[in-house]
Amino acid sequence: MQIFQQYIGGQFEDATEHFDSLDPATGTAWAKMPAATPQDVDRAVTAAEQAFFSSEWATMTATARGKLLLRLADLIAEAAPRLAELETRDTGKIIRETSAQIAYVAEYYRYYAGLADKIEGAHLPIDKPDMEVWLRREPIGVVAAIVPWNSQLFLSAVKIGPALAAGCTVVLKASEAGPAPMLEFARLFDQAGFPAGVLNVLTGGADTGAALTSHPKVAHVAFTGGPDTARHIVRNTADNLASSSLELGGKSPFIVFDDADLESAVNAQISGVFAATGQSCVSGSRLVVHAAIKDAFLERLTEKAEKIAIGAPDDMATEVGPLCTRAQQDRAEQLVAQTVAEGARLITGGTPLERDGFFFPPTILDCDGVDQATSLREEFFGPVLSVVSFETEAEAIAIANDTAFGLASGLFTRDLTRAHRMIRAIRAGIVWVNTYRAVSPIAPFGGHGLSGHGREGGIEAALDYTKVKSVWLRTSDAPIPDPFVMR
Ligand code: NAD
Repeated sequence: MQIFQQYIGGQFEDATEHFDSLDPATGTAWAKMPAATPQDVDRAVTAAEQAFFSSEWATMTATARGKLLLRLADLIAEAAPRLAELETRDTGKIIRETSAQIAYVAEYYRYYAGLADKIEGAHLPIDKPDMEVWLRREPIGVVAAIVPWNSQLFLSAVKIGPALAAGCTVVLKASEAGPAPMLEFARLFDQAGFPAGVLNVLTGGADTGAALTSHPKVAHVAFTGGPDTARHIVRNTADNLASSSLELGGKSPFIVFDDADLESAVNAQISGVFAATGQSCVSGSRLVVHAAIKDAFLERLTEKAEKIAIGAPDDMATEVGPLCTRAQQDRAEQLVAQTVAEGARLITGGTPLERDGFFFPPTILDCDGVDQATSLREEFFGPVLSVVSFETEAEAIAIANDTAFGLASGLFTRDLTRAHRMIRAIRAGIVWVNTYRAVSPIAPFGGHGLSGHGREGGIEAALDYTKVKSVWLRTSDAPIPDPFVMR
């Protein structure tokens, strides 16, 4: 079995403890991953702190940091096929998705490479004649970045890119499910020529994450994962008062009005909920459809859902692969059964496929008439769509906002004025109109409520990794009078 190494202080090293990584397509172990101990975490954070304060990184110009990030982007683009294969092997994410996504990951590093020397301070028109006052934007310090299994290269790029552009250093903890691509990424990072300790890559589970987020030298935690873990993390950061940015889950509404282009809406809904086998935080997992078109919409949707090619993740013809873990498969099955017991109608799917690996088919549940249906509230993180219909625009808004989450939303209508009213009314960090799942390094991404806070992508993300220093400079040569001498 292949044994992977962890990356601390610019060195690849064998860990003292390991855990098995399972191939989700077969359910069997294929590699051994380092299980970082609290001592490893401490060494990694110490290396990141030394790099932050006393390596050449500390005095490197922003332009030079940008050049290193550009070199890294080129290395990622070159290695994209290899990284894609590894991610597919270790997480079950299908090869057509990993290939496209990893090629685009390079663009995130390019964007932040370009931004590095555009993170500017400000000069203030202060209300005192003999003072110059300006603001310096300085890097916040050592960043702990924690990512879940789905799209680790992507979800770490939106943390590492802006953090390094701002001048921070990073300790990344990959997910215990499917960490191989992150350990391979560490090799590219090393090759790009960054000073030792600027990025450290550890793998492990909750204990490793807890040791990292409670470490007194960590200044900021950038986390993607579930709300329960986020609560643990916020508690862990409390002693040191470290800041955090939290990208959590969602139960995003996909709203279709009766004037929408049905074919486009159906296609967008199919990829909106079944892409990545539903393991996507922005999954459009609640279809909110106008009653007048519900039956026609569901008929087309079901026909397409049932034709989706389910298969081996490394086959380019596969459209839906396995879930990443058995726990995810069990959860999907249990939540579907619970919702059906509450009165929902199962239209298609609903039970694991009878084959090796963690396969679960595209599933559609009609929840009309079921009060407080479980599947309309709980995030599955699997290929399950829950449907509810509406009659009026006000009803559509009420249903869309009836969630503790607030990450993404989709809106399909040809009525421009209605679209504008809806955009204002929907409580979510992203509104996609007549499209779904579009992302770009240029656009901020993030949510409200249980979907977390802070933004990834765009300039906002880089500013999250800075702190502002106010500088006051007196311009008068006149001596400062002794304040205690009466005149
Ligand atoms: P998770 O919260 O269980 O785990 C995420 C990461 O946190 C893993 O690396 C895990 O090891 C680590 N972790 C677990 N316990 C910890 C602790 N006590 N302290 C520190 N770290 C700890 O999430 P998951 O189940 O791996 O991923 C699915 C979740 O991620 C879903 O809720 C999904 O919506 C969310 N997600 C959000 C986004 C987004 O951008 N908003 C993107 C992808 C996934």
